[in-house]
Amino acid sequence: MTATQPTGTQPTATQPTDEPVRTAQCACGGLRAICSGPPARVSVCHCFACQRRTGSAYGAQARYDQRQVRVTGEFKRWTRRGDSGGSVTFTFCPTCGTNLCWTPDGLPDAVTVALGCFADPSFPQPTMTVYEDREHSWAHVPGDAIDRWR
Ligand SMILES: [Zn+2]
Ligand SMILES: [Zn+2]
Repeated sequence: MTATQPTGTQPTATQPTDEPVRTAQCACGGLRAICSGPPARVSVCHCFACQRRTGSAYGAQARYDQRQVRVTGEFKRWTRRGDSGGSVTFTFCPTCGTNLCWTPDGLPDAVTVALGCFADPSFPQPTMTVYEDREHSWAHVPGDAIDRWR
């Protein structure tokens, strides 16, 4: 699927005061998501689609309201149809291929950003894990406060 817009430049997001601004970027730096304020949710997903999307053992991501996120740079989009009829549209860099962010069609006001693209070890930790029945044995997210879904 080709991009429906030539670039990802969008109007400046409203920026809450005294909230951190964090920037996620692709591997080559051409595509960025500038995120204002705290994420609504940080989660880890162990599903096979996330394993394939990332090329890693699981996906880690931060969900924001789209008004908090400004995407800059060129991108392409690809929509994956889910088993249950839902679909997710992914935004990725056409140069290096990094999947920077995505939006489930059922949550059009949300932008979920790949946590690793922040390259920030102090990023808020996940509070939720999904598809634990597909997790690699060594990839368990520790903690009693985690909201766990199989
Ligand atoms: Zn890139
Ligand atoms: Zn997943």
